[in-house]
Amino acid sequence: MSLEANVRQVKETIARAAREVGRDPAEITLVAATKVQTDDTVRAAIAAGITVCGENRVQEMTAHLEADAYAGAALHFIGHLQTNKVNKVVGRVDLIESVGSEHLLEAIEKEAAKLNIVQDILLEVNVGGEESKSGIAPGEVENLARKAREMPHVRLRGLMAIPPVAGPDGNRGFFREMYQLYVDIKRKMDDNKSDIDCLSMGMSGDYADAVREGATLVRVGTALFGARPPMGVKAN
Ligand SMILES: *Cc1c(COP(=O)(O)O)cnc(C)c1O
Repeated sequence: MSLEANVRQVKETIARAAREVGRDPAEITLVAATKVQTDDTVRAAIAAGITVCGENRVQEMTAHLEADAYAGAALHFIGHLQTNKVNKVVGRVDLIESVGSEHLLEAIEKEAAKLNIVQDILLEVNVGGEESKSGIAPGEVENLARKAREMPHVRLRGLMAIPPVAGPDGNRGFFREMYQLYVDIKRKMDDNKSDIDCLSMGMSGDYADAVREGATLVRVGTALFGARPPMGVKAN
């Protein structure tokens, strides 16, 4: 199938899942996970109706930015970010979705202060409690959200999660837990709750369920672009 057809189909699936649970499809934004894609494929995705691109790797993102490949779309950073690379991301993206430690949060605040900007961020939650994954534990969300709120150069916009690879029952339990955390943190941060409007969860295999459970951002790669080559192999 063509990229255009895939974009249309994923958007239709999102809209259908939203209506099933009485949500307005306009509440949900499709983020195209563009890792390993070429400049031209990124441009083609935007021409096909993608409004937000999500990048994992600083180096690829920098190359796409230099080629102006994201023109016409917003840009989110969704991958693991090392503190020594924050200067290549802060101020260059609309939203950093993957803030999974206090250390990183502090580095982002420092860099944003240097640039005299306010950087929008999400806190990444390790909802499955997996050793191999970054992100804060669900029980740490409130503490870190309060720290973020005290920082003048970051604006907390919500939460993001990458749940474990789905089992037979899928990830609905984790999505439900994330939605509850999101609602709780919105309520607790009452003085800036209007800023908290993003819950990023759901990928190619499970974005419809994520929408049913309250996602406002879904990050989809494979269902738009096809299977990625194995790590380390360059897409053509
Ligand atoms: C690659 C990636 C996605 C998209 O994964 P697919 O299964 O290809 O849809 C979503 N989120 C993050 C953080 C990713 O790295």
